[in-house]
Amino acid sequence: MPDAPASTTGPADPAPVRRVRVMLPLPFPEPLDYRVPDEMKMPAPGSFVAVTLGPRQLVGVVWDSSDEGDEGDAVAPERLKPLTDILPTPPLPAELRRFVERVSSYTLAPPGAVLRMSMSVAEALLPPPPRRLCAITTDGIATLAEGPKPLTAARRRALEVLREGAAPVAEIARRAGVGAGVVRGAIGFGWAEERLVPGAVRVPAEPDWRAPGLALSPDQERAARMLVEAVEADAFSVTLLDGVTGSGKTETYFAAVAAALAKGRQVLVLLPEIALGAQWLERFRRRFGTVPVEWHSDIAAPQRRDAWRTIADGSARVVVGARSALFLPLPELGLIVVDEEHDQSYKQEDGVCYQARDMAVLRGSLARIAVVLAAATPSLETIVNVSRGRYRRVALPRRHAEAAMPETALIDMRREKCESGRFLSPPLVAALTETFAAGEQALLFLNRRGYAPLVLCRGCGHRFQCPNCSAWLVEHRLVRRLQCHHCGYAAPIPGFCPECLAGSTLVPCGPGVERLQEEVAARFPAARTALMVSDLLPGPRAAAELADAMVAHRFDLLIGTQIVAKGHHFPMLTLVGVVDADLGLGGGDLRAAERTYQLLHQVGGRAGREERPGRVLLQTYMPEQPVMQALVAGDRDRFLEAEAEMRREAGLPPFGRLAALIVSGPDAESADFAARALARSAPHFPGVEVLGPAPAPLSVLRGRHRRRLLVKAGRDVNVQAILRDWLSRVKFGGSTRLQVDIDPYSFL
Ligand code: ADP
Ligand code: ZN
Ligand code: ZN
Repeated sequence: MPDAPASTTGPADPAPVRRVRVMLPLPFPEPLDYRVPDEMKMPAPGSFVAVTLGPRQLVGVVWDSSDEGDEGDAVAPERLKPLTDILPTPPLPAELRRFVERVSSYTLAPPGAVLRMSMSVAEALLPPPPRRLCAITTDGIATLAEGPKPLTAARRRALEVLREGAAPVAEIARRAGVGAGVVRGAIGFGWAEERLVPGAVRVPAEPDWRAPGLALSPDQERAARMLVEAVEADAFSVTLLDGVTGSGKTETYFAAVAAALAKGRQVLVLLPEIALGAQWLERFRRRFGTVPVEWHSDIAAPQRRDAWRTIADGSARVVVGARSALFLPLPELGLIVVDEEHDQSYKQEDGVCYQARDMAVLRGSLARIAVVLAAATPSLETIVNVSRGRYRRVALPRRHAEAAMPETALIDMRREKCESGRFLSPPLVAALTETFAAGEQALLFLNRRGYAPLVLCRGCGHRFQCPNCSAWLVEHRLVRRLQCHHCGYAAPIPGFCPECLAGSTLVPCGPGVERLQEEVAARFPAARTALMVSDLLPGPRAAAELADAMVAHRFDLLIGTQIVAKGHHFPMLTLVGVVDADLGLGGGDLRAAERTYQLLHQVGGRAGREERPGRVLLQTYMPEQPVMQALVAGDRDRFLEAEAEMRREAGLPPFGRLAALIVSGPDAESADFAARALARSAPHFPGVEVLGPAPAPLSVLRGRHRRRLLVKAGRDVNVQAILRDWLSRVKFGGSTRLQVDIDPYSFL
């Protein structure tokens, strides 16, 4: 019998299943397939959608990967889970989707883990929740008008506040200075009522780019023009704004910010530690009439939600933030500024390990926009990119308003004798004396929090160590605790030695800022001193107030860790004393010398920023070190050339590639076992060296034992491809874990 013709009367073909790929903010290697239910419109790529994964409800992003997954093992259509909902959230821009993929393939972090940084505020993905407001009723108004008779003082105050306008009960109570019960009572009497009103996002004021900035000096003008041209070119470019401390880099790149705003584009400014941004924010406000939207870990949840939402819908025009701001969905991005581009805090070292400055350049290239890197002491990487012609450079060689660069001198601590338990050498003490006598201010810099970095027993030699880490406990005398600076472990300072049980044999070793303050108080009882240390300041507000008090000359001396080094402008500060200039040079980090130069140059740059000349004194046991010599000579370029030469010879970044593989386990055996297994399967390629495994310098951290392998390769080697292949062949069992860090910085 011939084949029957296809029946035209049977059931119609079912409509083809519409499937979409959804990237979830989870560490999966790729997006998952979902079905679009018949009644739902097809979501556009980038849409935020609600889905189920097993028992969980999640929000993900509809993905349009450049490389479609293998259709062969696609889940059968009838087994696909449906999308639950399409959220009314502005879609994730295509440029950002590509950015997520590229960051993932560069860092080897799963794309979902990168995506999670772009959608870190779950509440912002949903419409703002309705708010319950309390409003006065006509009865309430009448009661208030009747005069004092029926009302207690508290009720009267509550009604008076209510008459000014509706607000949540708690806010009414707070403003009236009464308990919430009083307000609830007023509702009970019918004097007020609660209503649900739709939630609203607070839209930030628009920065006024037409407002004129400060009159620029000819140098600044030339630099500003170049940055503005880069913005107006509508193309990818990277420009290094290379200016000495106090040269006015901020004012200069504000011109580029104004140019981007004038073109109707959004601007992202990255700052190293936003806690230091109070002076920066104030300058922005003076220039643009309003503050930008802030993005960092100190922002409270409701503001975070509004910030994310207004950034995503384009109503926030300028965002200033810490490194994580780089992943924000700015749909109209037209300029990225990375201020203090050399700063170490741009490097994230857990979770997704990335270098925000490098990734800012990547984002700029995907978005085809201008990127500005600003620094007084640019990183070697950036300098090398300038010399290779990849980045442009524009210099501000002089301080603003004729202020001179400070004089820098070394104090050779091998010759100067300090009494035991004292850390200020006679020349530094003399300089402090002169400074105070002249009515000027000084800064003592010591990058060590607490009182003493180590406590030991004079009787038996016992040293206090963290139970979770291979690190000493730091004495914090002001809070009377021993603390681990790596895991946060803290314990009271004991009255006797836990080892030999002797009392009064415990001695602090070495100085921290708290101990320095004690020494200053003994030597200069009349000097008004303050400590500027992150752990003693409850937040950015407090840091800003302290900085203001210093500007107002309510202190003669500031003692601080690296948070004093950046951004501050103290007109009367003329002396900077660096208590231990060698501190950053130990540890075997390949960037130790470079970082020491940057940090000490930066902290020295606080001195003499206005009419009065400044000086910088560095206490060192290694005065012959090239870093110290370069600081004295102020010869940054020669120092960088020498550094570059050394790294070129050793094949180290930026002339070669490095990747660190950190294997960790709950005990030494499991960590060793996993690290050896990893090493055994290491690939053999010309130009690729695998070093280790060796115990990581912090061999135990937060209770986990750590081993490190270092992959060293030539610049032309695709390290990521090699690692991807290698790591796909190794299974990590149970409790052992692997962390990949491409371009590692700190060698913890
Ligand atoms: P940098 O960031 O290069 O260290 P700043 O931008 O902090 O320098 O500028 C140093 C100081 O000089 C600031 O107080 C700033 O307001 C001031 N300044 C810079 N340029 C100008 C200018 N063109 N007119 C007036 N003041 C300026
Ligand atoms: Zn002891
Ligand atoms: Zn610890």
